[in-house]
Amino acid sequence: MLTKTKTQAINCRHFINGQFVDSESKKSFENINPTTEEVLGIVAEGGKEEVDQAVVAARRALHGAWKTITLEERSKILRKIGDLILERQEELAQLESLDTGKPFSLANSVDIPRAAYNFHFFADYIISVGTDAYQQNQVALHYSIRRPVGVVGIIKPWNLPLLLLTWKLAPCLGMGNTAVIKPAEWTPMTATILMEIIKEAGVPDGVVNLVHGFGPNSAGGAISEHPDIDAISFIGEPSTGSSIMKAASDSLKKLSYELGGKNPNIIFADSDLDEVIETTIKSSFINQGEVCLCGSRIYVERTVYKQFLSEFVQKVKNLKVGNPFDADTNIGALISKEHYDRVNSYIDIAREEGGTILTGGKRPEGLEKGYYLEPTIITDLDQNSRCVREEIFGPVVTVVPFDTEEEVIKQANDTHYGLSATIWTNDLKRGHRVAQQVEAGIIWVNTWFLRDLRTPFGGMKQSGIGRTGGMHSLDFFSELSNITIKL
Ligand code: NAD
Repeated sequence: MLTKTKTQAINCRHFINGQFVDSESKKSFENINPTTEEVLGIVAEGGKEEVDQAVVAARRALHGAWKTITLEERSKILRKIGDLILERQEELAQLESLDTGKPFSLANSVDIPRAAYNFHFFADYIISVGTDAYQQNQVALHYSIRRPVGVVGIIKPWNLPLLLLTWKLAPCLGMGNTAVIKPAEWTPMTATILMEIIKEAGVPDGVVNLVHGFGPNSAGGAISEHPDIDAISFIGEPSTGSSIMKAASDSLKKLSYELGGKNPNIIFADSDLDEVIETTIKSSFINQGEVCLCGSRIYVERTVYKQFLSEFVQKVKNLKVGNPFDADTNIGALISKEHYDRVNSYIDIAREEGGTILTGGKRPEGLEKGYYLEPTIITDLDQNSRCVREEIFGPVVTVVPFDTEEEVIKQANDTHYGLSATIWTNDLKRGHRVAQQVEAGIIWVNTWFLRDLRTPFGGMKQSGIGRTGGMHSLDFFSELSNITIKL
């Protein structure tokens, strides 16, 4: 529940067994507005005790009210949640923008509508799919049934808070599981509102629980090691994924990971450069570059390298960085002081490594407060430089020329990451050829971030474990049992 105090602070509490509660310890922390650096509100800080209570409630609900609800009724509830998100779209978009620093226009046109669609999509999907059946001659009939995995821990990052939470929660509930959610400590607000919506939509108490807090030695750690949590759906950094895996190993939890990326954006000379530049501005800087799918490593065929750079730099200079609530703002503030310092440290590293900052690399003039950074384009770095290899997760891209298809495929694959890739070419054969050699879970040819929620989504290498989307989500959030009847 969000409560507004006289000072307009927006406070967030846990949601356990259908009730909004504070921590028994009364511990709390401040939620900082990234654009003003002022306190937005106070957030209850949960730990082992709150996670224990949430798990007890979730386990009870799993075997109680939730179990008796039919698939059709669950589908209706999911649809209702999606409808209620849309009814509160503007309020949710405002809170998302306040919490993250992202432009309100982006939250209102992408984050919140997609959060609603995640529920609408799975409302339809869960009632339209079946399971396998095999007739083995006249000997036996084999068929499988789906059952919930159980109590699922859902641990979330801060960049697309409601969009990513609902992407997991919708199939989780659709398959009859119950959940204990931990939103990112920097973005607690829309997850809290979602709990009000969930209650209003008729989800029984205890089915969805929310515990605010931090990572290790806090709510995140308590979820990861809890012996009575059956699975964890995690989105975040690879190193956090590794810690969660260690903590979850004693109880052998089922894990689904969507992790970081350092995604190549490969531009061949035969592509339509106007379209490339228009999309590359988005794939580089949308959401302040804080999207796991951003194409932060741009490779351009040498024959159009100069032309691309001059047009790209010119257009990027025209992007407006500023107040997320101004209608003409393209780029808001980065999420936190800690993250802002980290992203800025990469600009120092680029300079030390001999890179050229073609534009950006500093705080925009006139914005003294807030974690604002100009969109930054860096050249003259080689494949081994840290800025080309490490995920910066901010409005910073590197641009590197290439001469041959073989060379650029090698460079694209020379990374521990394997989340997404974009390939620009008007040569149909080359499009297929390169796409099939680039090591990534999601590959776009002549587009970026074009999604169909039925398709597999996820990363290779250190960018993830497993896939979500359509049947892949249902596979993670259910257990299949095969039944054999001898004829
Ligand atoms: P993070 O890993 O720091 O934190 C994610 C969540 O994990 C937070 O809720 C945090 O409190 C919690 N956490 C941290 N340490 C923990 C621990 N030891 N045990 C349990 N929980 C712990 O990630 P972030 O900074 O919030 O998000 C940015 C990262 O997420 C980037 O790497 C980005 O690429 C990735 N990401 C990936 C996808 C995807 O779909 N592949 C989508 C969005 C973000």
